[in-house]
Amino acid sequence: MNHVSPPQGSISPTSFEERLASVQLRQIFQHAPIGMALLDLQGNWLDVNGQFCRIVGYSRDELLVRAFRDITVAEDIAIDTGLLAQLLAGKIPSYQREKRYIRKDGTPIWVELAVSLARNAQDEPEYLITQIVDINSLKLAHDALRERELTLEAILGALPVGVRMASANGHIVSANLASLEIWCGVGGEMVHEGVYRAWDAATGTALEGDDWPLQRTFATGKGVEAQLLDILCFDDTPKTVLCSVLPIIDDQSRMIGAIEVIQDMTRWLKLEQQLLVRTRELENRNKELEQFAYVASHDLQEPLRKVSSFVQLFAKRYAEQVDETGQSYLNFAVDGARRMQLLIDDLLHYSRVSRGGSEPVPVDLERVYKALAQDFSQVLAETGGELLCGPLPVVLGEPTQMRALMQNLIGNALKYHQPGRAPRVEVTAETNEQGVATIHVRDNGIGIESRFFERIFVIFQRLHNRAEYPGSGIGLAICKRIAENHGGRLWLESVPGEGTTFHFTITTAGVENEAG
Ligand code: ADP
Repeated sequence: MNHVSPPQGSISPTSFEERLASVQLRQIFQHAPIGMALLDLQGNWLDVNGQFCRIVGYSRDELLVRAFRDITVAEDIAIDTGLLAQLLAGKIPSYQREKRYIRKDGTPIWVELAVSLARNAQDEPEYLITQIVDINSLKLAHDALRERELTLEAILGALPVGVRMASANGHIVSANLASLEIWCGVGGEMVHEGVYRAWDAATGTALEGDDWPLQRTFATGKGVEAQLLDILCFDDTPKTVLCSVLPIIDDQSRMIGAIEVIQDMTRWLKLEQQLLVRTRELENRNKELEQFAYVASHDLQEPLRKVSSFVQLFAKRYAEQVDETGQSYLNFAVDGARRMQLLIDDLLHYSRVSRGGSEPVPVDLERVYKALAQDFSQVLAETGGELLCGPLPVVLGEPTQMRALMQNLIGNALKYHQPGRAPRVEVTAETNEQGVATIHVRDNGIGIESRFFERIFVIFQRLHNRAEYPGSGIGLAICKRIAENHGGRLWLESVPGEGTTFHFTITTAGVENEAG
């Protein structure tokens, strides 16, 4: 049974009866899906419906002893009061606004409020009718969305690449600063529109209609990945850009837009071009130098051999006819020719290594080691030295170069030993998952100061004179070349007075070899 009672307050029973006379009207008020309330002209509630109570969390009785100010967020009260004054003054017939109430549990809630003024028969303001819709979740969602939009805008604004977004109909809806700058030319004005001109950088074909990456994406539904375009900016600056387009697909697999990303590659391509030219120049110069070293050392051999053999011949035949000073001059000449012969041999060896070798084949480093151990047996016996080796892999290499590499490193390790301490040299290896082996040659010799780590790899650079330790200073330069020729590296660690370890990397012959 519906009990219709007149609201309390200043509304005369007659006018109330007139407006809410019927039970149906009362029912509508009570059960409306939106909040409804009647207030006196001071803003005290005269009646509220169930939905309004649910929105603010107060019971009807609690509200009827309150005014709207009591449950309105402080900052919103002044606006309400101002609008109310205008309403009562007849300046506006009604108003609608978004505002916040404070729910009984203390939390704020966003509502859409519509307020109108009811007048009596004499056209005097009598009471206020308000309708309230809960828009809290909508408002919070909207605010969150706006926040994300602002974040996105900030990110796009800060991006060094141009980003443009197109809506479902293919129209550009937003373009970040970088994209505008790319099209406007160097330091150009912010021109938003102009004639877009571009050519496919690979084919030189001018872009028209669906040739444009963005249009193509809309025509095919597929993205465009990194297409290089030559463009003419609005200020006629030519540029090369890298353009990619990504379609935006919704949950129903419909294309609802696209994102175009363009990156100005002009500077990079120019740099790349310069780098290529420079690399080519260096390669050519390198080749010329290698050629020169080869020809020089090769062609020097013949006359040197002649000088050397005739000096020796002279020494043999006319030794008795020259005095002691002449004898020592002759000895210097013979020795000089012999040393020059060694240097030329080394140089020739180095340029042969630099010119590359034959195709790599599986080389068993353990076998190489065993042969070398044999060669070094005399040195070991003389010095009381020790040469040890762990398991060594089968690697892919040029056999003579592999032998030269191991020979130089082991030879040096034995040669540069501490006076009075027998050399102890150890060769070990380990192979990583990619099949690349690192070989270590460790000695207990004199060691090398780290400031010489680069110098010792330079051709003919030595840290000692020949009286201390014999040699020409080319061994490590050759070793480095060999390691690099095989796609590896050669480096060292050393503690002066304690010893040195040389490491080099090389690809193992791997499965094929084991299988074969
Ligand atoms: P060489 O041995 O003919 O002098 P290398 O190019 O093989 O020429 O070596 C260059 C220099 O590096 C050597 O003169 C020596 O000073 C230093 N060096 C090389 N290997 C070692 C080592 N295992 N221990 C200490 N010093 C070394």
